[in-house]
Amino acid sequence: MRRICVFCGSNPGNDPHFMAGARKLGELLVSQGIGVVYGGGNVGCMGALADAALAAGGEVIGVIPQALQDRELAHPGLTSLHLVATMHERKALMAELSDGFIALPGGLGTLEELFEIATWSQLGLHAKPLALLNVHGFYDHLVAFLDQCETEGFVQQANRDTIIVESEAELALERIRSYTPPLVRKWIDKQEI
Ligand code: AMP
Repeated sequence: MRRICVFCGSNPGNDPHFMAGARKLGELLVSQGIGVVYGGGNVGCMGALADAALAAGGEVIGVIPQALQDRELAHPGLTSLHLVATMHERKALMAELSDGFIALPGGLGTLEELFEIATWSQLGLHAKPLALLNVHGFYDHLVAFLDQCETEGFVQQANRDTIIVESEAELALERIRSYTPPLVRKWIDKQEI
C-alpha cells in the first residue's frame, strides 16, 4: 500500500468534525508510510488533508485540471502537482497513482468520484479497495440508501460489499489493507481455502 487517493469536500462543512477528520486521516496515512493522492486544492477539507499530511512530513500528490487551478486554489506546497486537461484525466490519473481510495465527507464532486470508482470496481476495471469514511455519521443516509439499493435488487451484494464503511480512519485503513477483491474471493471460495 504505497499511496491512497482521498476524495473529499472543497468546502469545510458546517461541523468542525469534518475538517478534523480530514486532518486526522492525513496524519494517519503519513504515520503508516502511505502517500496521499488528492484533487490538489487548497480549500476546505481538501486543503486540511494536504496541510496535515505535509506537516507530518508525508508525500502529497495533487492532480488538478488547469481550469480549476484558480477556483480550487491549487496547493502551492505539494510534493508534486499534476496539471491535467480534463476532469476525466484527473480521475484516471488519481486512480492510476493510487493503491486504494477513501472518501471523506464532501459534496457532489466527492460523491461523483466515489461512485465512479465503485462502478469501475463493479465492471472489473480495477480491483483496488474503496472505503467510505463515515465521519461523525455524515454518510449514514447514504449507507442506508446503498442497503436499500441492494434490498430492492439494483445492486448485487458482492458489489455493495466492495464499499467498506467505517467511522474510524484506523479501522478503514485496516480493512483496506486486508481487502480481497471479489473475483479473488470467489476463486478462494472455490478452492475451499
Ligand atoms: P465537492 O465534493 O463538490 O466539494 O468537490 C470535491 C472535489 O471533487 C473538487 O476537487 C472537485 O473539483 C471535484 N469534482 C467535482 N466534480 C468532479 C467530477 N465530475 N470529476 C472529478 N472530480 C470532480
